[in-house]
Amino acid sequence: LTRTSTPLDADALDRRVDDLSESAFAFLERLVAAPSVVGREAAAQDIVADELARLGFAVERLPIDETIADDPAAGVPQIAYDGRFDVIGRRGIGHTRLLINGHVDVVPASEPDLWSTAPFEPARRDGWLIGRGAGDMKGGFAMATLAFEALADVAPWTQTTDVSFVSVIEEECTGNGTLSAALAGVLGDEVVLTEPTGLDLLIAGVGIAWFDVTIPGTAGHAESADRSFNPVDGAIELVAELRELEREMNAHVEPAMDGIAHPYNVNVGTVEAGDWPSSVPALARLGIRVGHPTSWNASEIERRVRGAVNDVVRRVPALRDRPPEVRPSGFRAEGYAIDPAHPLVRDLSISHAHAHGSHPVAIAMGSTTDARIYVNRFGIPAICYGPRSRNIHGVDEAVELASIQAGAKTLARFIASRLAPGER
Ligand SMILES: [Zn+2]
Repeated sequence: LTRTSTPLDADALDRRVDDLSESAFAFLERLVAAPSVVGREAAAQDIVADELARLGFAVERLPIDETIADDPAAGVPQIAYDGRFDVIGRRGIGHTRLLINGHVDVVPASEPDLWSTAPFEPARRDGWLIGRGAGDMKGGFAMATLAFEALADVAPWTQTTDVSFVSVIEEECTGNGTLSAALAGVLGDEVVLTEPTGLDLLIAGVGIAWFDVTIPGTAGHAESADRSFNPVDGAIELVAELRELEREMNAHVEPAMDGIAHPYNVNVGTVEAGDWPSSVPALARLGIRVGHPTSWNASEIERRVRGAVNDVVRRVPALRDRPPEVRPSGFRAEGYAIDPAHPLVRDLSISHAHAHGSHPVAIAMGSTTDARIYVNRFGIPAICYGPRSRNIHGVDEAVELASIQAGAKTLARFIASRLAPGER
């Protein structure tokens, strides 16, 4: 805890964070109320753009070109990019030293009746804000804007120096929003992504690949089901085969994932088949997400999944003439890790300790973030640090409001130290 050169009145900063937090929570509520699922991100991006403009950033909307799909680090686009965009907020006129990244896209909430509040009508309860995207990761937007606003009075030099905020789309399916912005030059010497880490430091993620697998059946009346092939039975066989792949992957956990018992999860996320109880379905389609070791690239995991499908075909005579189709359908993300001893990890940890009296933990997770794009593709250190969340991607997703304030106190200290006059 020796970085004392920064002329920052820490008590004044913390008071400003507390005083301004209600305004940040109101911004978060507006943002959660904009249901920014894939393809419908524009309204949420406009809310972010307005907030960044209010805080004195020069705001730009950056379209995403369809050719992004050709990039080796890209995922398979979900839908056309027409009318969809990243938002950039810039300060200063030079080279960006520090880039803050957040993703505005959220996963769907298709079972609203299971929620205690409508997923896109945020509600506060016991210090938490409930709503789809509140945790992953609109709470992180509020944390970042709160940090910036609090710094305006207590560290005015941060208002004119080279820091940018990028609000991206498609973090939840491809990473193409971040990749597109980065290829357009929206980079920094260092990147902090305000993903929900529970105020720990997330420094590594596994590889992630999405596939659609379509299994053909012999469509017809259920009367002849014993002589037909039901593709749902094929889907069950395939899931068993994928569980075998999962066991194999988790038998040898790589060092970056140390401490996680089961980092490589195969998840069947969508199942579609049939339209009538008395009909044998013509098709069954599985949407699967495979977490895999960092040492495997996108081609290797595709080869393994095709291998699992081929094993099913060998066992099931009905599939020999008409094998299932395997299509990469989103993430083609390779694993990533940054050194726990890297100055970015060390200094953000110091800022947290200054604010909260003890150091956060450096963690890895069996998932990915857009940090991989900066680390793997551009060689730029990137780390995730953000609020405490619960039930992300689930029912009654929520963010703890106090952790937004706490994270803002850390981030503001870090920004002030990185942008202090005379630093670097
Ligand atoms: Zn996220």
